[in-house]
Amino acid sequence: MRLVLMGSALVITVAAVGVAAFGMNRLVDDLQDAAEHQAKLSQVQRQVMALSYGMTDAVERAVEGDRAAIDRHDQLSRELDDTLTELLSLSVDETGARIEQSLNAEREAYLALEDVAVAFARRGDYTRAEEMLSGEYRDLKLVYTNRLDEALDYAASIMDLELQRARSTATWLTAIGGIVLIVIAILWGLVAYDAHAQHRKLLIARRALQSHNERLERAVAERTADLESAKERAEQANRAKSEFLATMSHEIRTPLNGVIGMAGALKRTQLEDSQHKMIEVVENSGQTLLAILNDVLDLSRIESGQVELEEAPFEVDEIASAASALFTPLAQEKNLEFAITVTPAARGMWVGDALRLRQVLHNLLSNAMKFTLEGSVTGRISTSGGHMVVEVADTGIGISQDRQDAIFERFTQADNSTTRKYGGTGLGLAITRKIAKLMGGDVQLESEEGKGSTFRARLKLKRAERTADPKAAQAA
Ligand code: ADP
Repeated sequence: MRLVLMGSALVITVAAVGVAAFGMNRLVDDLQDAAEHQAKLSQVQRQVMALSYGMTDAVERAVEGDRAAIDRHDQLSRELDDTLTELLSLSVDETGARIEQSLNAEREAYLALEDVAVAFARRGDYTRAEEMLSGEYRDLKLVYTNRLDEALDYAASIMDLELQRARSTATWLTAIGGIVLIVIAILWGLVAYDAHAQHRKLLIARRALQSHNERLERAVAERTADLESAKERAEQANRAKSEFLATMSHEIRTPLNGVIGMAGALKRTQLEDSQHKMIEVVENSGQTLLAILNDVLDLSRIESGQVELEEAPFEVDEIASAASALFTPLAQEKNLEFAITVTPAARGMWVGDALRLRQVLHNLLSNAMKFTLEGSVTGRISTSGGHMVVEVADTGIGISQDRQDAIFERFTQADNSTTRKYGGTGLGLAITRKIAKLMGGDVQLESEEGKGSTFRARLKLKRAERTADPKAAQAA
């Protein structure tokens, strides 16, 4: 509807401007033609008058014996012929033509007498010539002069008519233009009204949108506040849980250390074989319980974000050597080939948490040792993209494809028989992965059941600015 209104307003405006321009153009042309016609007419009229007077004068002189006047009379008579023909051509309608024709006839009549008078004068018979120019000639001349006035008046009236026509065209054009202007004004008024209504609607819609937005913002703010307080509560609960665990593990560890210590002391006294075995079970169980307690505490502290990694320089070769020294007796006991290497590029000083790095390496090595019955366990520390890669490969029992993700979950093992056969709680890998993530990396696993496994921890540790002299890091 709006488009139709605006379109028609535009079309009518353009059409009206076009028609007005065309009409005005025509009007100006008509007026110009009329003015030119008028100018021409008055010029020819003046010529006719002048020629008529000239001829009369020439004839009068001729009859008085002026021979040159006879020739002039002939000359002027020809010129008058041409000029009257021109005047006739300027008479635009039938009436004009009729007037001109009767004018010609009158002229012929008195010119005939003039010609006769001139002929007598040429022969030298001036008396007869003069006679020709009196009486009838004068009457005819008078009639002609009147007829000429009539013709001139008619020509002037034609001009008036032209002007009148132009004036009435102008009046019509003005009237039509006025009406068209009113229509255009109404149409544009409607367009403006419609635009105004549209603008109002937009304003109302915008206000509605604004208040809707404000409501939404308030709702979001409330929700955010709820979430923040919920998060706060959750963090509090988590802190409380960690504190509880820390306290509990401390509380349990103290008597447990007592139990383990006393069992050790008791083991060194004089005991029967069966008693010695029993006290060893007590001591081992105590140690296992202590390890579980430590793992649970460690995991809960990492999960509650209480662990902050240290940023200190350390030498990676020392960590490799220490681990090598720690695990070599076990490897020998199990008759496994064992070696830890540090690649030349990885040797030297790094910056990070050496304790946690050691924990990662120890967890992976202790699993490898635990789940490998024959063959080898190999540790390797290298670099990739400027980061440290800790890799432990073994030729142990391997892990089936469908359990490879699950074993990284806490308290999860490859299968139900694992605890029974190998011990453990399923916390080591969960802690290892959490530490790797804290260090900006992750742990990946490649394994084939029955053939062995390779755990690869990528740790985003930085090199220390000054690297110590690389030492021989081959340790076995
Ligand atoms: P835990 O060793 O105390 O059971 P972990 O989280 O360290 O707990 O390991 C989870 C499980 O992943 C193990 O119980 C075992 O089934 C499997 N696993 C870990 N390392 C190896 C390995 N090197 N070879 C075979 N299985 C492994």
